[in-house]
Amino acid sequence: MSSPNYAQRAEQLRQLLNEHNHRYYVLDDPSVSDAEYDLLFRELQSLEQDYPELLTPDSPTQRVGAAPSSAFAEVQHQVPMLSLANGFTEAEIRSFYQRVLKLLERDTEQSVELVAEPKLDGLAISLRYQSGRLVRAATRGDGQRGEEVTANVRTIRAIPLRLRGGKAPDELEVRGEVYMPRSGFLAFNETAEQRGVKPLINPRNGAAGSLRQLDSSITASRPLAFYAYGLVIDEAWLPDTHAEVLKQLRAWGLPVNPLIKTLPGVDACFDYYAEINRQRETLDYDIDGVVYKVNRLDWQRELGFVSRAPRWAIAHKFAAEEQVTTLEAIEIQVGRTGSLTPVARLKPVFVGGVTVTNATLHNEAEIRRKDVRVGDQVIVRRAGDVIPEVVRSLPARRTRELPEYQMPSHCPECGSPAEREQDEAALRCTGGLICPAQRKRALEHFAARGAMDIEGLGSKLIAQLVDQKIVHSPADLYDLDLETLMNLERMGEKSAQNLLDELDKSKNTTMARFLYALGVRDVGEVTAQDLARAFGDIQALRDADLEKLEAINGIGPIVAQKVHAFFRNDKNVEIIAKLLAAGIHWPEPEQVDTGSQPLSGNTYVITGTLEAFSRNVAKQKLEALGAKVTGSVSSKTTAVIAGAEPGSKLTKAEKLGVDILDETGLAALLEVK
Ligand code: NAD
Repeated sequence: MSSPNYAQRAEQLRQLLNEHNHRYYVLDDPSVSDAEYDLLFRELQSLEQDYPELLTPDSPTQRVGAAPSSAFAEVQHQVPMLSLANGFTEAEIRSFYQRVLKLLERDTEQSVELVAEPKLDGLAISLRYQSGRLVRAATRGDGQRGEEVTANVRTIRAIPLRLRGGKAPDELEVRGEVYMPRSGFLAFNETAEQRGVKPLINPRNGAAGSLRQLDSSITASRPLAFYAYGLVIDEAWLPDTHAEVLKQLRAWGLPVNPLIKTLPGVDACFDYYAEINRQRETLDYDIDGVVYKVNRLDWQRELGFVSRAPRWAIAHKFAAEEQVTTLEAIEIQVGRTGSLTPVARLKPVFVGGVTVTNATLHNEAEIRRKDVRVGDQVIVRRAGDVIPEVVRSLPARRTRELPEYQMPSHCPECGSPAEREQDEAALRCTGGLICPAQRKRALEHFAARGAMDIEGLGSKLIAQLVDQKIVHSPADLYDLDLETLMNLERMGEKSAQNLLDELDKSKNTTMARFLYALGVRDVGEVTAQDLARAFGDIQALRDADLEKLEAINGIGPIVAQKVHAFFRNDKNVEIIAKLLAAGIHWPEPEQVDTGSQPLSGNTYVITGTLEAFSRNVAKQKLEALGAKVTGSVSSKTTAVIAGAEPGSKLTKAEKLGVDILDETGLAALLEVK
């Protein structure tokens, strides 16, 4: 590019970024993913670095956010609300630290204490307290001027309207992040369509959109929470360190993230980063990295700030979990029980640390809801170990009309008609066991770990066995012999013999694994264990009527129905008999030692946000003590544990007269020995 071209590109980038800022910060309606925005931002930053003459004072790289919307009264910030510099790599964080040492004129051997904090993906808020009372709340806006949102902020229960503890100066300003807990976000979207409201794009967008409502009763109905991380106060009141500031905030009754830690220097940052990244999926809020801040406040003042960010802090960001790519095709996968699942074939894209080429689209309703069409640009998300998914399409980028996707009327594998069962989102192939795809999936399931665990019986081998009509049902597996196996492609004598040995070994199993392996619809590993524990042998289970099945803890009417129907099907009964005749067996059920499991027999439901740990962790802790934790309240529920902003489960518990415990009650439960 010649330099006029650079100038043109810089201008183009400025315009693009300004437009994206406006959509993101003012309209709460971004049209690109954060990763794409960051790419444009970094491109402009590097152009400006290489050609300083291109840098304009109004460049988006020099400013924070966007000008406040005129829908709200404007607030002038006494101390600007800044953004944060960021880095993705260890080298970038080390160079930030070296810069800090240099500016503080400390030699490279010395260290500077840092406070490390999760970087919440919400929006920054300023809370002004006068004589301990909340008098004004404002958004960050463009850093200098924000929007007055006091009435809305008053509806957030995590934000105290009055500070606790008498010792506070007359005037002070708390800074922190308003966010939407994931659980609240999911609950909101679950019922959004039913209520005729637009689903939220993501928790950050949900938080920003909810806080910037003109009608505060709408804000009140949204699940918002808050963590404080900063203080603007008369210097005479200031402690020496940021860590002490956080302690003070806590003492005033403001929520401060419990994962914040003081670190001796830069070396400890990377373990902290890895640890928080590990915990990321279990947290009930989105984070996009961690922040490191120089702990000593006099050093913070000495370091000061550049145009849009302090020099004493840096965000260490996680790899983007969302990227944009092209949807090249939609293919149909036939599941074990005949469900026809549309799968997106994507132009390969690097997201969440891996290259993604496929992502589930769940079902037809989801395709419609996300308005996904072949040829679209789509946002793909991969978070932690969760399977990748298409979040939505970007219809504004269509350069031509694209037809809506139609699900097939027939199974693409066996040609049987596809049908939708009542109240089900999924379309199903009606071919049953004549459908080779269903048969293959059923066999894969049968052989899987957690089921019969037959090592060496993978999907390629199963495909051959089914396609060559050697195996029709799991029972046929135990009739296989060396010669048949050796005739298969890529199968030598040794691997054939290994497989036969594995098949033989698999006969020694447990009733729960066997039940799970049979692939009864809706019977997962846990339900299989419940059934095995309750009945002990197949005959008793087969003889059980619906009432008896429903009486088992953890088994609802729908699952009971499916289990009952499964054992009324002659074909299934025949297969089971054949499998047992082939020698599948398990030991007599052991008596469970309830003495060491103080909560066994109890069932809990957790709702709302817990302070001490995420719901997932609470669940694990309860289960470790023998309790069952389920998702829905019934009269069999022992107690409902309600955190902050509980959902409809609490109402249901009240209606059914089920016991309700708060966090203290939960702590007491976990203490039981
Ligand atoms: P930022 O969000 O990356 O970092 C600064 C902010 O971090 C602060 O204002 C504060 O709100 C927050 N924060 C969270 N935890 C904190 C903690 N413990 N201590 C201090 N601050 C904490 O920067 P930004 O300038 O607000 O926004 C840039 C981000 O917004 C980028 O990720 C960008 O991708 C996204 N963005 C996207 C679009 C779009 O169109 N998709 C447009 C504009 C911005």
